[in-house]
Amino acid sequence: MSAPRLYVSADMEGTAAVASWTQVEPANASEYPYYRRLMSLEVRAAIDGARKAGVGEVLVNDSHYHMRNVLWDELPPDVRMIYGNRKPFSMAQGIDGSFDAAFFTGYHAAVGTRDGVLDHTYTSETLYETRVNGKPCSEAMLNAGVLGVAGVPVVLITGDRATIEQTQAEMPWITGVVVKDSIGRFATNSVSPERARELIFAGARSAIEKLGEAKPYVFEAPIALELDFVSTQNADFAELIPGFDRIGGRTVRFVHDDYLTIFRAFNAAFRLGAAANAHV
Ligand SMILES: [Zn+2]
Repeated sequence: MSAPRLYVSADMEGTAAVASWTQVEPANASEYPYYRRLMSLEVRAAIDGARKAGVGEVLVNDSHYHMRNVLWDELPPDVRMIYGNRKPFSMAQGIDGSFDAAFFTGYHAAVGTRDGVLDHTYTSETLYETRVNGKPCSEAMLNAGVLGVAGVPVVLITGDRATIEQTQAEMPWITGVVVKDSIGRFATNSVSPERARELIFAGARSAIEKLGEAKPYVFEAPIALELDFVSTQNADFAELIPGFDRIGGRTVRFVHDDYLTIFRAFNAAFRLGAAANAHV
């Protein structure tokens, strides 16, 4: 068997020590450059651990904010990286059936999660809750569904304790690396960045060694997407999309058999809904 191919979706809020939007906001000149480097080094630790377990080719998908965060200099030179926005599959861009496993690094809890640092699901300004087949979803779940269509299991997630517990409840096979405990939304009790990298290296190695136990995460058809927006004006715009039903003041619903269509519709709907936040 040839060396396993690894896909890494790299977010930033779940990086050790991160506790504030200013640390993950690219326009912030005082804090972001430091935390961007910590994020990059955690991605590197995950790749190094995976390679210790025999992984060959690696594709990193930078998945935070404008999706231009990971510093190339901190990655092994033979790694490829998807960089920049807009991407039709966003945090799951570039996945296909040629990959054997996926890692989610620096991930965070779903919007509305208690003691989840910087909890949100793609946006907390526009979306109050996202449900698929009645289940409230995190980014990890929504993105894992895209990978699931390609038959690729997520085998590692790193972030705060709430994120790991929430994801393991859905994907019991996943190796979770807890790098911090959150004290509410904007404070953490974190291990040191260096210790986090040691834990991520070990978790990544073990996740690849246990690859045989992992399963793709699949939503059963017909798939119902329901979006509760923060405000009614968001739903006013989202319901304009053909096929969407307005089922409540702040809620729209869309049903389809194909999860990739659901995921694209989700992206279209929350972005269009957000456009309604402009002042009138
Ligand atoms: Zn992010």
